[in-house]
Amino acid sequence: MAQGYAGHQFGGYSPRLGDGRALLLGELTAPDGRLLDLHLKGSGRTPWSRGGDGLAVVGPMLREHLVSAAMHALGVPTTRSLGVVGTGRVVQRDTPMPGAVLARVAASHLRVGTVQYAAAHYAQRAAAAGTDPGDDCLLARVVTHAAERHHPEVLEAEVPALALLERVVEVQARLVARWMSVGFVHGVMNTDNVTLSGETIDYGPCAFLDGFDQAAVFSSIDTRGRYAFGQQPAVMQWNLTRLAEGLLPLVTAATGDQDKAIARCVEVLERFPALYGEEYAALLAAKIGLPPAVSAGLDPVTRTDLVGDLLSVMAGARVDHTGFFRDLARELRGRGAPARDRVLDLPAYDAWAGRWRALGPDPDAMDRVNPVHVPRNHLLQAALDAADAGDLAPFDRMLEVVTHPYDERPEWAEYALPDPAGGPFVTYCGT
Ligand code: AMP
Ligand code: MG
Repeated sequence: MAQGYAGHQFGGYSPRLGDGRALLLGELTAPDGRLLDLHLKGSGRTPWSRGGDGLAVVGPMLREHLVSAAMHALGVPTTRSLGVVGTGRVVQRDTPMPGAVLARVAASHLRVGTVQYAAAHYAQRAAAAGTDPGDDCLLARVVTHAAERHHPEVLEAEVPALALLERVVEVQARLVARWMSVGFVHGVMNTDNVTLSGETIDYGPCAFLDGFDQAAVFSSIDTRGRYAFGQQPAVMQWNLTRLAEGLLPLVTAATGDQDKAIARCVEVLERFPALYGEEYAALLAAKIGLPPAVSAGLDPVTRTDLVGDLLSVMAGARVDHTGFFRDLARELRGRGAPARDRVLDLPAYDAWAGRWRALGPDPDAMDRVNPVHVPRNHLLQAALDAADAGDLAPFDRMLEVVTHPYDERPEWAEYALPDPAGGPFVTYCGT
C-alpha cells in the first residue's frame, strides 16, 4: 500500500505528496509486542509518484542505512533500515546510477503531513455537506489510529486531538534536543518528514557537524538556511503549529468554539521552547559530566548560563563538536589542555572552566555519553563513492565504527577526526 500525505516543503504547502517511491508492506509485531511498519523505499512507481520514477539509488539508500544505524547507537529515536538490496537496474539521475531498494522499519509512517492530508479531506467534506463530518471522518480516524499506535493515553483524554498534539510536541521536543546534542542536521524538516511517533525519518541530505556552528547548512537545496543546525528547534515548533492547524477542526468540535480551540492549541504549542530547552540543557549537563544530583540542584538560569557560555566559546572557534566533549574529559583527567587548546577566547574559556570544575564533573560519566564517532561527512561520502564503484569494504568498516560510537580504538583513529580538508560539505536530497 502507498500512503497519502500532504506537507509543507520549505514553507510551501503541497496538498498531494504521498509515497511516491515507497510501499508499506504491512505491520509486524516485535518480540516486545510493539507494532512496526515494514516499508520498502525505491520499489517503483505508485499513484503518488507524479513525474518521478519511484526508484532509489545505491548511494542515498546506503547513507540512510548507515546514518539511521548510527543514530540508533547514539540513543536517538529513529526509523531503522533492515538492509539495502541492489536491484541490478540502472536508474537515470544526472548520470546513470545503480538502483537499490531499502527495507525500512518504523514505529509507523504517520506524519504531520498525514494529518494535514486528512484535514484537507475534512474541509472538503464539511464544505460539501455544510455540516460537521462527524466522528467517523478520516481526520478523527487518523487521530484514533495514531493514538492507539503511539500514545494510547490520548484516547482517554477529554479532547483526544488536543492530547495528541500535546504528546507529539513532547516527543518532538525531546527528539530535536537529541539531534542538537550530537550535532545532527536533518536538512529537510518538511512537515511530511516529521513523524507523530517522535522517530527521526528521512535521511536525505542530513549531515553531522564537524565545527560547531549554529548556521551550518549542508543541503544543496537549502539556499536560505531554513533548516540550518541552530534553526531546528524553531522549525520544529513551526511544523507542530501546522499539526495543530490540521487538528483544529476536531478540537473545535470538542470545545464547541473555534477561538477557545485555538487558545488551547496555542497554549500547548507555547510549551515547546521550554520542553526543548530543559531537555537540551539536561543533555548538555550530562555531556559536561555534571553528576545528576548537581545538575538537578542547579537553578535553571545557572544551568542555562553554564551551557550557553560554553556554547559561545565553542562557536567562537568552531571547535569540532564531537571531539571537543571528549577533550574536556581528557583535560579533567589532567591529560594536558586539549579542549582549551581548541578555543580562541581563552579568558572566557578559563572563566567557564573554573565554574564547571567547581561543580565536580565526572570524566567517566562524560565518556559514557559523548560519542567518539559520529558519521563524518567526508568519510561517509568516500565510502559511498567506493560502494558506487562496487567496493563495499569502506562502507562496512564505517558501519562497524559508527555502531560503536563510544569505543575509542587506535585503529579507528581517523574516524574520530573532522575532515582534514575542512572545506564546506554539500549534501543532496536522496532521489
Ligand atoms: P522526500 O524529499 O524524500 O521526503 O520526498 C518528498 C516527496 O517526493 C515524497 O512524496 C516522495 O515520495 C517523492 N519522491 C521523491 N523521490 C521520488 C522518486 N524518485 N519518484 C517518485 N516520487 C519521489
Ligand atoms: Mg520524505
